[in-house]
Amino acid sequence: MRLILLGPPGAGKGTQARFICERYDIPQISTGDMLRAAVAMGTELGRQAQVVMDAGDLVSDDIIIGLVKERITELDCAPGFLFDGFPRTVAQAEATRDAGVDIDAVVEIAVPDDDIVQRLSGRRSHPGSGRVYHVTFNPPKVEGVDDVTGELLVHRDDDREDTIRNRLATYHSQTEVLTEFYRELEAEAGAPQLIKVDGTQSIETVRDQAQTELDKLAGSS
Ligand code: ADP
Ligand code: ADP
Repeated sequence: MRLILLGPPGAGKGTQARFICERYDIPQISTGDMLRAAVAMGTELGRQAQVVMDAGDLVSDDIIIGLVKERITELDCAPGFLFDGFPRTVAQAEATRDAGVDIDAVVEIAVPDDDIVQRLSGRRSHPGSGRVYHVTFNPPKVEGVDDVTGELLVHRDDDREDTIRNRLATYHSQTEVLTEFYRELEAEAGAPQLIKVDGTQSIETVRDQAQTELDKLAGSS
């Protein structure tokens, strides 16, 4: 299974990625998590990325494509993988296709802008694992603390209202077009199947609907 999760920031990609990766036993490749790890380690890439991420802009295609190409050569990606937050531009999608990386399905999680600010301003993250919670919609068992490790959760710097607005603008100008990109591809032989899910439903309903479609795909391969 080689899958892409598409949708605006806050759509629930990271949340759903957990379920999908566990069910099909594939690694989650989150470019956002990879960049945050580089920031935390203080590497040159991290220093460059932090400025861009804090502004709600996109890190350059060359850097991202390089990171992803290297990541998918690792052994754990042999049975497949799930891209979460990649591709985010047409150039990234084209580079993936041109590298001969065949994708089985693109799962689009649709959520309107009005819901996004509330989702992201209430998001709390566990930096070590990438696990996410929401203060109201998906609270941890103990307030402010990761369920698994007991470590403190953080409110990401880019999950503040003005940066959220920039990220949404970036999504509309550069990423949204990818649904059209994959819809047009669909006519070609071997193109990924498009699965669209209404992301305003509960976390469990989104999970079940995506799972039903992906199970069909897994069963037919
Ligand atoms: P979210 O899913 O909440 O939008 P991510 O964790 O996926 O956030 O990404 C955080 C930030 O990292 C983005 O706003 C962007 O600056 C950068 N980033 C992540 N993935 C990519 C990508 N594929 N291309 C360019 N920039 C990226
Ligand atoms: P993304 O990876 O697309 O940026 P996340 O999975 O991090 O999105 O979810 C963003 C926020 O919204 C998190 O706080 C998460 O707990 C919450 N969330 C995710 N899915 C739903 C849902 N279906 N209903 C309500 N809140 C949700």
